[in-house]
Amino acid sequence: MFETLSERLSGVFDKLTRQGALTAENVETALREVRVALLEADVSLPVARAFVKSVSAKATGSAVTKSVTPGQQVVKIVHDELIRTLRGEGDPGALKIDNPPAAMLMVGLQGSGKTTTTAKLAKRLTERQGKRVLMASLDTNRPAAMEQLAILGSQIGVDTLPIIKGENAVQIARRAKQQATLGGYDVYMLDTAGRLHIDEALMAEVQAVRDVAQPRETLLVVDGLTGQDAVNVATEFDGKVGITGVVLTRMDGDGRGGAALSMRAITGKPIRFVGLGEKMDALETFEAERVAGRILG
Ligand code: GDP
Repeated sequence: MFETLSERLSGVFDKLTRQGALTAENVETALREVRVALLEADVSLPVARAFVKSVSAKATGSAVTKSVTPGQQVVKIVHDELIRTLRGEGDPGALKIDNPPAAMLMVGLQGSGKTTTTAKLAKRLTERQGKRVLMASLDTNRPAAMEQLAILGSQIGVDTLPIIKGENAVQIARRAKQQATLGGYDVYMLDTAGRLHIDEALMAEVQAVRDVAQPRETLLVVDGLTGQDAVNVATEFDGKVGITGVVLTRMDGDGRGGAALSMRAITGKPIRFVGLGEKMDALETFEAERVAGRILG
């Protein structure tokens, strides 16, 4: 995911660390190159600018230029700044799902990986936290999507709400809540309908479902390959329904990684998980330290 950015930055820093003593000028040159590398990775302009400005303020201090390894000092500053940019508060994987039955709303555009991610998360909660999870598909427009969740549920051994034809999304959400309460489930996950584009009807439906379920967590699933678009989608969903975090999918692909770097800074919402493949175990918590390490190689 971050290969290109990682390569570009290592080129910049190799040059810098070979230079022994550093001057304000060669630090500035290096940071200009960092900025270009960030923009090429599809990091949004204000984020790239703020990033470089903050690094620059710390790197041009005399403590850095006088240090024995000034180049490495700059790399360390960039590393710390990456972590600061990427990190949300607290543990990204710690979902608020005490107080059973806790509702989790999964939202996003069609094709983002929402249904797959719902099942991956359900599996994780079941296996790692011993939670009893019920999943329900609210995608009444696409019977195939409802079937898909049921199939995934039986593969991973997680219950799904039986499908009743003719119900609307709100009715399904109510039934899921009731079933979760009566059935003693810890968590019920609502896989809401996606559309190809954000539209009024989609948002109104998600809002109505949210009002019924009162979810503690509303996770937006977005395709990490879509770069700044992913960030725009997050901003819109957050404005309309309020999200508590983001899951970036397809981080196993060859995207440029910009979405990961811009998300927190632009939307104020943390990335909680990343999808790294189609398999049910291909989901990781988003650890800023590990990601910064990957970027700096
Ligand atoms: P939805 O329409 O948002 O519910 O999307 P789906 O869950 O049906 O996913 C669409 C396609 O993307 C499926 O073929 C998934 O297997 C695939 N997919 C989902 N997440 C990932 C991921 O993290 N990496 C990769 N490579 N494929 C994924």
